[in-house]
Amino acid sequence: MQFRIGNGYDIHRLVPGRALVLGGVRLSHPDDLGLDGHSDADVLAHAIMDALLGALSLGDIGKYFPPEDPQWKGSDSLKLLENVVALVVERGWRIVNIDSVVVAERPKLKPHIDQMRNNLSEHMGVSVDLVGVKATTNEALGPEGREEGISSHAVVLLERERI
Ligand code: MG
Repeated sequence: MQFRIGNGYDIHRLVPGRALVLGGVRLSHPDDLGLDGHSDADVLAHAIMDALLGALSLGDIGKYFPPEDPQWKGSDSLKLLENVVALVVERGWRIVNIDSVVVAERPKLKPHIDQMRNNLSEHMGVSVDLVGVKATTNEALGPEGREEGISSHAVVLLERERI
């Protein structure tokens, strides 16, 4: 049996006039802030994609969906995630489990965690109990604490299914 582990990290700036999408869930920020980026800036989906790619040493999402490429502008990150999972599956690997955390001062994410897990697992084609999503504030410290941005960390374990 062969296993691979990957880790991913992402952060996006909070700005006015943008949607706030995390794990495919559209949230409302108390100050109407959203995440800036070329795609929908779903940091959680991005961290998971980088963890999946990292596990197989395939590089990072910038390599597959370059921000200068207009075809990815405004992309639904869950669709990008589907593409990344396809790369993993094509190479003969299966997702054992994923764990992730979103670091955001506001809004309260807890009521939306299960919807995020459902969205992510559906688009990855895995059971929802294999997808962990947690939320924490940064105790008012650092860029997340000052609400300059929202970040996310993810780890993934892959198991070889076939050569
Ligand atoms: Mg990103």
